[in-house]
Amino acid sequence: MSSSSPLAIVVHGGAWSIPSRELDAHRAGVAAAAEAGWQVLDAGGSALDAVEAAIARLEDDPVFNAGAGSNLNRDGRVQMDALLMEGAQLRAGAVAAVERVANPIRLARQILERDPHLYYAGAAAEARAQALGFALCAPEALVTPAQRQRWLEARAAGAPAEFESAPLPVRGQAIDALPAGDTVGAVALDAAGHLAAGTSTGGTFFKLPGRIGDSSLPGCGGYADDELAAVSTTGWGESIMRVTLARLAADFSRHLPARAAAEAAIAHLARRVGGYGGLILLRPGAEIGIAWNTRQMARAWRRSGMHSARAAV
Ligand code: ASP
Repeated sequence: MSSSSPLAIVVHGGAWSIPSRELDAHRAGVAAAAEAGWQVLDAGGSALDAVEAAIARLEDDPVFNAGAGSNLNRDGRVQMDALLMEGAQLRAGAVAAVERVANPIRLARQILERDPHLYYAGAAAEARAQALGFALCAPEALVTPAQRQRWLEARAAGAPAEFESAPLPVRGQAIDALPAGDTVGAVALDAAGHLAAGTSTGGTFFKLPGRIGDSSLPGCGGYADDELAAVSTTGWGESIMRVTLARLAADFSRHLPARAAAEAAIAHLARRVGGYGGLILLRPGAEIGIAWNTRQMARAWRRSGMHSARAAV
């Protein structure tokens, strides 16, 4: 184990389209999250700690579709998915369809550290949360006025075809009309040379109750292996799961530079299943790759040698 690895953190605030009035809030949100993760790394914390801190910050930010501010499903409820994974021993923790956990990424961390199993869903995940010492919140505490309004409007308009989980939209079809994502994720590299990845989401807007997307599935919404890369993805979950996007990008990075690996994985997503999405990828050595084929993806990064995080949307 080397103590001289460069440090790096990259975060995303989701693929899809970001309304122009929300661009500044997205940019500020991902920058603050990258800084929060950086402070952990800079103080000697682990990549896991940094990813957890960055994502918890984004979950607490109502601008993003994770934790408070999550998208509502067709029943008007928040159901969240989250994954955390580390690259040294390939340990992971994941939860799906949780309604009463304010920071699902913190629950994923405790499952990773302390639970015999890797993945829980629904009421069982909330029971594990209580057993692990979490206080459950009221489901309504995570519903913001903006999300309630959006849901009321969608319900009044019926269920538009693009909110159905299948079929996928045809490539090139009015991307601007697709519902915004704002899923969040982070990847980090610590001083010991270890990688970690995490992703947290309220899932797609107006999804059917019980629908679980890619974000919490190892290899789909995220992946971390010190021998390859750390990856967090976002986008149309039904397409991402079919190509196991995070693992695919990590595998591509074995023979390609980080950016080329990220781009090749997104190109594969589009070519094989007509999918939409984006991903952030971080290699040992702090090499960063970011790619997306949606209109936008909020992102921010900081690595050794930079004086502050850089953010873009
Ligand atoms: N991938 C997420 C899901 O399908 C949504 C997103 O990233 O926007 O649940």
